[in-house]
Amino acid sequence: MPNYVVDRLIDEYFQDTESSDLYNIIFEVAQYFPEKLHPFASQIDDEYLQELILPGGPDSWVDDLVNKYRQDEDPQHLKALSWFRTDKALDALITLSKAIPEEDLEAVYAYIENSGVFPDSRLASVYFQNYRGYVVARNESPHHMGGSFPHPVPKCPITDTPANRILTLDKSNLNLDIESQYNPSFFWYESGYPPNCIYVQFTENGVKGLMTPMTDGEVGTDLIPGKLALKLEEYPLKYGRAGTATSGFSNHQVGGYPVWMRFQRFKRCPVCGQGMKFLVTIDSGMTPFGKLGFNGILYGFWCDPCAVSCTYQQNDDDFE
Ligand SMILES: [Zn+2]
Repeated sequence: MPNYVVDRLIDEYFQDTESSDLYNIIFEVAQYFPEKLHPFASQIDDEYLQELILPGGPDSWVDDLVNKYRQDEDPQHLKALSWFRTDKALDALITLSKAIPEEDLEAVYAYIENSGVFPDSRLASVYFQNYRGYVVARNESPHHMGGSFPHPVPKCPITDTPANRILTLDKSNLNLDIESQYNPSFFWYESGYPPNCIYVQFTENGVKGLMTPMTDGEVGTDLIPGKLALKLEEYPLKYGRAGTATSGFSNHQVGGYPVWMRFQRFKRCPVCGQGMKFLVTIDSGMTPFGKLGFNGILYGFWCDPCAVSCTYQQNDDDFE
């Protein structure tokens, strides 16, 4: 969307903040162009919009939130700080983490990880280049989805349902600093017995299941409707998106900051014990080739030194 269009939409919204059509538009603008709304922050009363415009927000907002937290110790202020992803907000979270009630500590560690670093090692927890993904035919992108896979894949330990190859990223076609010699692949199955995570390690002998049984070579094809691929477009979203994810809208993403349905810490690598970097979001919903066969959102993590991938699902059911 060109800049002048965004500016005009913002103008129109502030002339009529009661219009629900304009609200839906400004909601999109706030997610994808939060900085455009920073100058209008004092005119925004809606709490969802207030949340969405936090990425990259000015340092004075961070100071305000820190002061508010010091006054009332409401953890919502800490959550708000996690959506800035600026150095100022990250420093504030790290400083506050040293003097907060024990019961808030896990939440703050999650906020720090979601701001771009692991709280223990201070290493990066995300890949800073952000891509949006679109499901396309196999010949339109090197990042393959579905179809066959040249090695055994994970399977359900109860029903033997084989996993689908959800996505293989071709790292040579990505501007991410993946040093491993292996292309990260992510696997999932739907068997009625949802795994918490599916971990695999890539080795010179193929794919090794970690805490999961593997098939003899059989690969599931029920979740990805065909031999497909994910086309990736670099999308400049320096400070990521704020707010809570809703599944089923084909919001596929590689790199950048995760948008969670439910805020949480990043997965740990079962081989080295370190935090795994967030790498992929594959949303459920329609594709031009049919519906994806899983619910919720799949989040993919990667430990580059160990060449371990983790696929993790969040679902609407989790809220029941
Ligand atoms: Zn590791």
